[in-house]
Amino acid sequence: MLALKKTTRLSVEQLQNLQTKRFKKLLRHVLQYSRFYQRYYKQHGITIKDIDNISVADLPTISKEMMMDHYDDFVCDRFLKRKNIEEFLSRSKDPREKYHNNYTVIHTSGSCGTLSLFVYGPDDWAVIKALVVARVVKPVPHFTRKIKLSFIGATDGHYAGVSLASDVPGLLACCLPLSINSPLETLDHNCNTFYPDVVSGYSSGVHLLSQEQLKGNITIRPESIICTSDPLTSEMRHTIKQAFGREPVNFYAGSESLTMAAQCERHENLHLFTDWHIFEAVDGDLRPVAAGTPGNLLLTNLYNYTQPLIRYQMHDEVVINEQPCGCGSPLPTIRNLAGRQEEFLWFDTADGKRDYLHPIVLVELFVAGLKKFQVIQTQRNEMLMRVIVDGNQETVLAAIRQRMQEIFCGKKLDTTVKLNLEVVQDIPNDPKTGKYKLIIPLKN
Ligand SMILES: [Zn+2]
Repeated sequence: MLALKKTTRLSVEQLQNLQTKRFKKLLRHVLQYSRFYQRYYKQHGITIKDIDNISVADLPTISKEMMMDHYDDFVCDRFLKRKNIEEFLSRSKDPREKYHNNYTVIHTSGSCGTLSLFVYGPDDWAVIKALVVARVVKPVPHFTRKIKLSFIGATDGHYAGVSLASDVPGLLACCLPLSINSPLETLDHNCNTFYPDVVSGYSSGVHLLSQEQLKGNITIRPESIICTSDPLTSEMRHTIKQAFGREPVNFYAGSESLTMAAQCERHENLHLFTDWHIFEAVDGDLRPVAAGTPGNLLLTNLYNYTQPLIRYQMHDEVVINEQPCGCGSPLPTIRNLAGRQEEFLWFDTADGKRDYLHPIVLVELFVAGLKKFQVIQTQRNEMLMRVIVDGNQETVLAAIRQRMQEIFCGKKLDTTVKLNLEVVQDIPNDPKTGKYKLIIPLKN
């Protein structure tokens, strides 16, 4: 953490040198230990001998599909096998449980509806924790008691946010995960009882809490508020500030790296953590775009030596600013993330109220053998899941039904919402936007 603090006092040039040094070190490691990268780079005429003369832009990009299709060869740790990790995920729902007591496993379906896995070794994970504490949470220690941290989001699995929040150092803080998939009254009650010092979670979840605070259903006074995962719009920011009397800090994190950028005290742009990542904004043909222009993000994660991502195609659009931030930090900034906003599905509960199914529950749905899916609300209380399955169809369908039943039970929607499953071979993108639509709510 001390080293991280020092980094923010470096000059832009010194920071660049540090990034290059770390990039070359990672590249050497990857060319030594990942069979996928060895083969892939060799096809592009690059071997370990070329490291000194190579910059990141000379390397070909990688996609989620490449990574997942060659997973066992992709990782640098030969112990890791996709099949075994998926078995672990089917069994373990506790985000604090480490795979073989050692690795942190993060999974996501993402907005594309297909599974991806990200594994972090203990050293990789330590960098994440230090970055988050030093640059995002920046906790003010309470000398008489532990800091109370709440996290609102998907909580019953190995998702990025909850895995990180529930791994806070036990001597310093304690964490209460608040499931976004619990009834509103439960959320309100737990929030009031715990009375958190730090409120963190999905922007939409924190926004929901701020609305509950404004209605008088919760009465908390958090010292800091951290929003991540889904987009924090100006309207949301305004409501949160109104409810809690504080500006939320926008924090950019994902399964690919659990800490990529955060807002400074000026609450304008997000500072990219370029000492531990390389961020490139590119156009549809993967050519770099000029600073100030929107581009798709290519991510190079410089601290994950277990499952290294080099020029990985993210599904996020960013605008990297030309001018440095007025706060004096050498870390470059991006404007607020557009991200992708998925839709809430609203249904009737058994006691005649309306409650929602949060998109993140579907975005992060994991069922072994479920390759891709789309959710369509076909009636007021009916939804259709179109699924592409792998392996024994009956077993996978039963597992999907069971997982969805758990989710509905969490929201007390299990007796009112009817679920239909349809096995398909392909799910086309939305013809209007050309993008994949994970959730389609009922019109009107
Ligand atoms: Zn700044």
